Amino acid sequence: MAEVLVYVDHVDGAVRKPTLELLTLARRIGEPVAVALGAGAADTAATAAEYGAVRVLTADAPEFADYLVVPKVDALQAAYQAVNPAAVLFPSSAEGKEIAARLAVRIGSGIITDAVDLEQGDEGPVATQSVFAAAYTTKSRITKGTPVITVKPNSAAPEAAPAAGAAEALEVSFSEQATGTKVVSRAARESTGRPDLTEAAIVVSGGRGVGGAENFPVVEALADSLGAAVGASRAAVDAGWYPHTNQVGQTGKTVSPQLYIAAGISGAIQHRAGMQTSKTIVAVNKDAEAPIFDLVDYGVVGDLFEVVPQLTEEVKTR
Ligand code: FAD
Repeated sequence: MAEVLVYVDHVDGAVRKPTLELLTLARRIGEPVAVALGAGAADTAATAAEYGAVRVLTADAPEFADYLVVPKVDALQAAYQAVNPAAVLFPSSAEGKEIAARLAVRIGSGIITDAVDLEQGDEGPVATQSVFAAAYTTKSRITKGTPVITVKPNSAAPEAAPAAGAAEALEVSFSEQATGTKVVSRAARESTGRPDLTEAAIVVSGGRGVGGAENFPVVEALADSLGAAVGASRAAVDAGWYPHTNQVGQTGKTVSPQLYIAAGISGAIQHRAGMQTSKTIVAVNKDAEAPIFDLVDYGVVGDLFEVVPQLTEEVKTR
């Protein structure tokens, strides 16, 4: 069976959930070979193996931490040359997409970004994308070179499938460009203790209907009862009620959780673009004609200040 390279997104050896999803999807098109780079890379092997990696290529060097993505592109190119894979998969993070794009240029391949599903077709991997503000679903196949594909978080449920997956050292020699852009400082964002918006299995978002920053704790309380991330519409963000990092939509983040709850959000096309691929959508809106109701699996017509706290209390009793 052909091997498929899978880029491992990890923090000091702790593999992030989108990579587990990617390993799960990779098994549909071949045998996953994981590539982990930077501090703690070798520590990812056990987890990668648990999710089906037949090998885990690892490399650590100061360049990975001290410079922007080019050293990682060099490493991916080395892995590509060593493995000669049937496809190369990345999580659709900002970093994953940049490495993927640069790798595709270097190896002369086509690229598909932001896939939401992956399957093996007669002539190679077929990627599903949600396009034009999620108005259409397309299926595409790369016809030039080795397919390079990035996949959005929450596109598949991670399923374990233990494989051999021992760590193997990957030899990397860095290109001249590798040390071109140095990282001068890193500032960790203050943690809210909530999951990352783009990776969360559940997202609770608030819109203009929330009425002010002082009312967002109503949305946060429901999110916390569900272990969810908090999102916001652009109207809420533009009004200064919630940070831009939490904006969902065309000019914000794209989320695809198992459950998306929209409170006081009308459902404008630009908002839909960021959440339409959520598996189950619930809306609370006092206007029965709000366009969000065209999209939902469950809708509650009512005042969010009555409905949301009741929901929170109900969830807490379970
Ligand atoms: P509104 O449209 O004002 O809706 C508020 C809703 O709350 C209403 O339906 C109302 O019935 C309901 N409501 C009010 N009070 C209550 C209550 N007490 N209980 C329950 N319901 C209540 N928008 C985004 O969200 N994300 C984007 O990334 C984005 N990008 C954009 C990019 C461009 C180029 C443009 C032009 C627009 C973009 N927008 C984006 C803006 C978008 O068009 C909408 O203006 C925005 O989504 C509206 O936000 P909202 O639904 O919170 O507000």
